[in-house]
Amino acid sequence: MPTTKRKTGLPTKRKHSLGKTLARPWIAAVLALGVGLALGAGLTLFLGETPSASKIETTHKEAARRPVPKVAGLPAAKPGDFLPGEASKPQWIRNAVAVPENGERPLIAIVIDDLGLSPKRSAMAIGLPGPLTLAFLPYAAKLPEQARRARAAGHELLVHVPMEPEGKVADPGPRALMTRMSVEEILERLRWDLDRFDHYVGINNHMGSKFTKNPERLALVFQELKSRGLLFLDSRTTSDTVARELAGEMGIPFAERQVFLDNYLSAKNVHERLARLEEIARNEGVAVAIGHPHEVTMAALREWLPTLEEKGFALVPVSAVVRKRLDGQGAVTGR
Ligand SMILES: [Zn+2]
Repeated sequence: MPTTKRKTGLPTKRKHSLGKTLARPWIAAVLALGVGLALGAGLTLFLGETPSASKIETTHKEAARRPVPKVAGLPAAKPGDFLPGEASKPQWIRNAVAVPENGERPLIAIVIDDLGLSPKRSAMAIGLPGPLTLAFLPYAAKLPEQARRARAAGHELLVHVPMEPEGKVADPGPRALMTRMSVEEILERLRWDLDRFDHYVGINNHMGSKFTKNPERLALVFQELKSRGLLFLDSRTTSDTVARELAGEMGIPFAERQVFLDNYLSAKNVHERLARLEEIARNEGVAVAIGHPHEVTMAALREWLPTLEEKGFALVPVSAVVRKRLDGQGAVTGR
């Protein structure tokens, strides 16, 4: 689609100027190998993956295109010198929650975001039957501990990155990514967000109806995700979002929300939204919902989640939706 490409495509120059900012993740990759070797089986809890995930990796050419890092005290890696096994896989695959083969069953992913500020509400979400996908705000306290509990309970993790909304009324909270910021400011904030805890598969946007419309600013975020091997879940807080198109152009593992569960806080509404979610999953084979840690949402989910199995749906983490999407595009197997 040449017209749309022109609209959101990045000038090659900009991509290149970002290259030098991308070395850091390789320090993490090298460290991850060391830590992995040291901790051995202790880490396996966090390294769940499925056979199809390794299929993705064997055909994955991304590693070969990454910039070569210079790490103090270590010889610089040469292209082709990539780490064997787990440590060489993109984070979104390495940190994915394992799911059984689901055959032809429609997939449903439930994301609970805005988590972390209230330990009580986080505990409520963590206590729901999973695997759910839990998205933590980066400025919440005791995040490593909350995230570890969530992961140990079998849920997948996202960083819920605050981004600029349209209008002056909505407050995205502290440290949001704003379109008026410089490249350096955006990257500094994003990297701070991404360094709060570990073992997440990617990010989704908190608010962001203005930021996700801006292809140049969003491309900065995607470039950082790409260098770290992370996925993007578009919360779709605006229908004008360019995230899907840009993710396609930049090769970012991607999924998007189809249903918000609790824009209206009543049990009746949440159940209606869940019914709508089932309908989308039946028609399209996959459906992603986002809800929030409100009592009413949690109660509805507690009732509804156990019914999925007998209705013929597979409850999956968001990484499984991304994987299915890549499969459908032939991006995984090269079809
Ligand atoms: Zn949010």
